[in-house]
Parts: sequence; C-alpha cells; structure tokens
Amino acid sequence: MPTKMKTLALSAAARARAARGQNTFETALLADAEPVRVLTMPIVREGRVVEIVQVGMPLRRARATLDRYRDTLTVLIPLGVGLAAVGGALIAQVALRPLDRMTRTARRISAEDLSQRVERPRTGDELDRLAETMNDMLAHLEQAFAQSRRFAADAAHELRTPLAALRGSIEVALRGERSPEEYRRVLASGLEEVERLIRLSEDLLLLSRSMAGPEPTRAVVDLEPLLLEVFDVGARLGQAAGVTVRIEGATPATARGDVTALRRALVNLVENAVKYTPRGGKVELSLTATGGSAEVAVADTGIGVEPADAERIFEPFVRLDAARSRDTGGAGLGLAIARSIVVAHGGTLSVESRPGSGSRFTIRLPLLPA
Ligand code: ADP
Repeated sequence: MPTKMKTLALSAAARARAARGQNTFETALLADAEPVRVLTMPIVREGRVVEIVQVGMPLRRARATLDRYRDTLTVLIPLGVGLAAVGGALIAQVALRPLDRMTRTARRISAEDLSQRVERPRTGDELDRLAETMNDMLAHLEQAFAQSRRFAADAAHELRTPLAALRGSIEVALRGERSPEEYRRVLASGLEEVERLIRLSEDLLLLSRSMAGPEPTRAVVDLEPLLLEVFDVGARLGQAAGVTVRIEGATPATARGDVTALRRALVNLVENAVKYTPRGGKVELSLTATGGSAEVAVADTGIGVEPADAERIFEPFVRLDAARSRDTGGAGLGLAIARSIVVAHGGTLSVESRPGSGSRFTIRLPLLPA
C-alpha cells in the first residue's frame, strides 16, 4: 500500500550539525502528532554542504510492538513465578519425603529399642549419606548400650558372689553355739570376702572414672622413674612367686598425664605378668622412645593367651581361666582398667602372645618433646 509522503521539520540543532558536516538522529512529532525517528544527513561536495537529506521512519509500529511485548510480560511473569513456586513446592515435597520417613523412624527409636535402622533411599546423594551416618551412629549406640548393660549385670554378679559367701558363713555360724576359735575362723573368712568386695568396688570406680575421660589437669610425667617404681613392686611380687623380674632397658622419656593412673595401669600389667608366669619364669620391663611415642613393654615367659582371646582379655570381667583367676583374686578388671587409662591418655595398649611361650603387653603414649 503506497504511503502518503509527509513533510519532516528540520530542527535548529540538526541544521547546525549538518552545517558542520555531522549526521543527527532525533525523534520528532509530525503535524498529525505521529512520532517519527528522523536522520538528518548533509551531502558534502568539495568541502561544502550542498544539500541536506532527511529520512524519517514512523515509530508507531515499533511502539505498538513494544506495547504488546510489555502486555505479554505483564501476564507471563506472574504466571511463570506462580508455576515455579508450585513446581518447586511439589519437587521439594517429593525430594524431602525420605527425610520425613527418616525423621519418623528416628522419633520411634528409643534407648530400649536401638535395633531399628533408618530406611536408606539408596540414591547415593546427601540424603543417602545422612541415612548411612545415622545408621552407623545407631549401631555404635546399640553396641555401647549393650556393653553397659552387660557391664552392670557382670558387676552385680561379681558383687553378689562374695556377699552370698559371707551370708552363708554368717548363717552357719549363727545356727548354734560356737567356740571362740570357730567364731574367729568365720570372721577371718568374712574379712577376706569384705576385702575382695572393697577391691572390686575400688576397681569398678577406677574403671568408670578412666572411661569418663582424662583429668582436666595433666602434669608432665617422667616415665623412667615411674618404670623403676613399678619394677620395685614387680620384684617383690616376683620374689614371692619365684619369678625373676628385671629391667631390659630404659631411656629418659616424658608424657603428659596422671602419674597415679599410669602407675596403676603399669602395676596391673606387671601383676598379671608375675601371676600368669610359672615359677622359674622371667618378666622383663623396658622403656623406649621411638617416632613420637614412648613405649613401655611388659614381657613374660608365662602361659600366654590364644590369638582368639588376645582382644577379649581387655574387656571387663573377662577371665580366661575363671577357676585359676579366682584363686589369684582377680575380677577380670585389671586389663580393662589399664587400657581405659592408656586410651584416656591418647595412647594404646596391645598384646602379642603365644600360648605356652609368653606374652608382651605394650603401652604406647604420645611422647612429650624433650
Ligand atoms: P584378672 O587378672 O584379674 O583375671 P585381667 O583383666 O588383668 O584380670 O586379665 C584378664 C585375663 O587375661 C586374665 O584372667 C588372664 O586369663 C589373661 N591374662 C592377663 N595377663 C596375662 C598374661 N601376662 N599372661 C597370660 N594371660 C594373661
């Protein structure tokens, strides 16, 4: 459709720029108020402006397009935001459903029933890892609760045995008139049971204290004199049992900790070494410092333990030969106490042993720099 030609006005600014040979873009209104984009361009020949050409393009269609675009956006943006919100909420609901199930399971789990496990989505993502971590934690808790229940039951049993013996002997003594000699005998055996009970309760207290963690104040402990002290105890016990106790070698070494507790741990090892070594055998103590740790070893030529029992003997109330140990008065707490003391000091206590040829218990403690 042919367009009617319309006259464009030449503005003063465009004229002045054209006179300088420059082009001008401007938006002007025609006589009928229609907006036009106008280019005013001078034609220069031999350095002089000979003509001025004006080209105009109506803006109505461009404006109409922009207006339509704005109207479309006004509808689309709220719609898009709305859809994104609803979609996001739906996706979050689906994605968080496993978390919801985990929360419900976790709420059902109590100290009485730690055997339950959280359902794993098995997607390999963060939720899967969270479920796995929770299950690991539950397994540890279950084990710890079972251990503490077993410990309480064993402790009650250990306490009941000497108490029952004590009651039995007192009841028998009270059944009739007894001679002073008989009364003395009953009282002496009662005293033995009472002493056993006191030792047991002291050991239980020590074990629960050392399991609770290290003392907040920890002094520097010189291990060499400590080893000599423990050797003195061992030598006296060894003499009575016909076992030679000696020091194999000792270097100056210091650790941080509680000297009384560390002495207790070492004495327990030396007492055992003498106790489980037949007459004529040997017990050797040594102290070395290697690679940032101090090593105290107690080696004996005694009866040893089977490899299958090497870890079990560190559990409370474990005695490999109940009858024999009962004779020697132990409740099976010595090694458990020693290990929990050493662990509270950031160290380890391990054993290497061969049945019939002896055992070597080694305490490793973090060494303090000299
Ligand atoms: P206790 O000596 O009071 O029985 P412990 O906890 O000290 O308890 O030791 C646990 C068990 O480990 C002992 O009953 C014994 O069977 C075994 N045991 C400990 N030390 C030695 C050792 N040096 N040689 C052989 N067996 C040992």
